Amino acid sequence: MKRGVLIVLSGPSGVGKGTVRKALFEEPDIDFQYSISMTTRQPRNGEVNGEDYFFVTRDEFETEIANGDMLEYAEYVGNYYGTPKKFIDQTLAAGRDVLLEIDVQGALQVKEKMPEGAYIFLTPPDLAALKERLIGRGTEAMDVIDRRVSAATAEIRMMANYDYAVVNDEVSLAVNRIKDIIKVERLRVNRVLPEYIKMIEELEA
Ligand code: 5GP
Repeated sequence: MKRGVLIVLSGPSGVGKGTVRKALFEEPDIDFQYSISMTTRQPRNGEVNGEDYFFVTRDEFETEIANGDMLEYAEYVGNYYGTPKKFIDQTLAAGRDVLLEIDVQGALQVKEKMPEGAYIFLTPPDLAALKERLIGRGTEAMDVIDRRVSAATAEIRMMANYDYAVVNDEVSLAVNRIKDIIKVERLRVNRVLPEYIKMIEELEA
């Protein structure tokens, strides 16, 4: 059976990963399975357990880690977020495609374990706009703004670890770019060759 394609959508905080991911799954021709993350943060209004996240306690999360059941996990603003391993393994083995939407720390961990995936970095259109937005908001002191901008630029440098960069200038445009990437991924030799090797083996049997 041909293995499914793993797509990892990631990028700096505040770039709009969640919005783009939701819009992508609304497309009629997207047949990906979404890997539902586990988190210790409280559900927001309207969020459903087992749909948006698996909401668990810190104890439960730490048990999962200890049992080796997380493909990756990270702590973000005081809460754990992680990807349950079993769903990914089973879904890919069944030949179905999986999409993960996770932060930059998590994506690096997944890449070490599953380098064959397609790693997409969602990026803001420009950094000057980010700084202006923070200044314009007028809620933070200049030194805080500078810290935030340098945190964002450090995250942008992480782009070097990815295969594709998608600018999130407009959600619908970002979605189309991701769909193009998915199409190209299916044509990569390392996905197609195993099938031909099998055919050759059958011919020669
Ligand atoms: P939020 O609390 O806004 O839903 O998510 C906060 C951040 O955690 C976002 O950047 C989101 O992409 C990231 N995130 C969500 N699920 C996971 C996960 O399973 N692993 C990691 N490493 N990050 C995640």
